[in-house]
Amino acid sequence: MVGKIRVAVNGYGTIGKRVADAIRLQDDMDVVGVVKKSPDYGALLALKKGFNLYVPTQDDIDKFEITGIQVSGTLEELLENVDVVVDATPGGMGAKNKQIYTRFPHVKQIFQGGEKPDVAEVSFSSLCNYKEALNKASARVVSCNTTGLLRLICTLGNHFKISRVRAVLIRRAADPREVKKGPINSINLNPPRLPSHHALDVKTVVPWLDIVTAAVVVPTTLMHVHHVAVRFSEGGVTREDILRVLEDARRIVLVKSAVTGIKGTAQLIEVARDLRPRNDIPELVVFEDSVHVEKDELMLFQAVHQESIVVPENIDAIRALTGIEPDPEKSMSKTDSTLGLSKKFFLL
Ligand code: NAD
Repeated sequence: MVGKIRVAVNGYGTIGKRVADAIRLQDDMDVVGVVKKSPDYGALLALKKGFNLYVPTQDDIDKFEITGIQVSGTLEELLENVDVVVDATPGGMGAKNKQIYTRFPHVKQIFQGGEKPDVAEVSFSSLCNYKEALNKASARVVSCNTTGLLRLICTLGNHFKISRVRAVLIRRAADPREVKKGPINSINLNPPRLPSHHALDVKTVVPWLDIVTAAVVVPTTLMHVHHVAVRFSEGGVTREDILRVLEDARRIVLVKSAVTGIKGTAQLIEVARDLRPRNDIPELVVFEDSVHVEKDELMLFQAVHQESIVVPENIDAIRALTGIEPDPEKSMSKTDSTLGLSKKFFLL
C-alpha cells in the first residue's frame, strides 16, 4: 500500500468516535470521513473535531441540511475513496451495511462485536489471532467482554497449559450517555439459561477452549467486572508465576487495592477522569489482590471499560486486513504507544 491507509468510520457513537480519534493518532492511517445518521449533537461534535461528515443515503442529506449541518456526501461516495471501512453502527446494522460494502470490493470491512460472527471472515483479537486476519477482506472485532476475556486467556495461554475457563460476568446496564436502557433497580440474569453467549464468542477466536460463562446485568454505567476461574492441566503454577506474567503483559494492568485503595469501578473511573481523555481505560484491569491460586486453579476479578477496550483492537485490525504491518507485536506497540496504554497501572 502506498501512502496512508484511508479509513471511513460508519457510525459515530460510543465506539465510532473513539476509533476515529485513535486513527488520527496513527502515522500510517487517516480518517477520510465519518458517517452519522441523525443530525444531532454527535454530528455537530464530529464537525467541531474537523471530521468530514457523511450520511447513509441521499435522502439523509436534506434531513441534515435543513438543520444547517453541512455534509460532504453519502456513505457510497465515501466508500469510493477509502481502503477500509470500520462499521460501528448499532448491533445488527453492520450485517445490513455489508450489502452496501460488498459493492466496493476494494474496501476492507471491520465490524464490531454486536454483529454475528458470520458477518466477517474472521473474529479478531490482537493478542490471540492477529496473523489469521492478515490480508483478509473482513474482520469482526469481538465484543468488549470477549476482548477482556481473550486478553487474559491468550496471555496466560502463552505461558501455561489451560484446561478450562469458567467466568461470571457482571455487566454494566448501559453506557453513560444512554437513557433508555436498564435495569435501574435489579440484578438480572442475562440470560437466565446458561451458558451465556460470551463463551461462544470466545470460541470464535479460540475454538478448542473449554469455557463456560454466566452473566448478570447490574444498574451501573461505568465498567463490567468479571470473576474468572482458570484451571491449568499442569500442576505447580503459583500465584507469583501468574503475577509475573500479568505484570509484563501487554494491554493488562494490575491494580493493587491495598496500596491504592481502589476496590471497584467507581474509583478506577475517578482516576481515569483525571488522567485519561474521556476517562477511557483501554487496558484490561486485573485486581491484583484478588489473584488467588489454589491447587491447579487461578481465580481473579478483572474490570473492563466497555467504551474503550476494543479501540486498540480496531486499530490493529486495520493494519492486519491491509497487510501494512504483518508483525502483531509491531502493530500493537505502535497502537499502544500512540494511544498511551500503560504496561503498569496508569496511576503509577
Ligand atoms: P452507539 O449507539 O453508541 O453508536 C452507533 C451510532 O451509529 C449512533 O451514532 C447511531 O446514530 C449511528 N447509526 C445508526 N444507524 C446508522 C446507519 N444506518 N448508518 C450510520 N450510522 C448509524 O453504539 P456503540 O455502543 O458504539 O456500538 C457500536 C457497535 O460496537 C455495536 O456492534 C456494539 O455491540 C459494539 N460494541 C459496543 C460497546 C459498548 O460498550 N458500547 C463495546 C464493544 C463493542
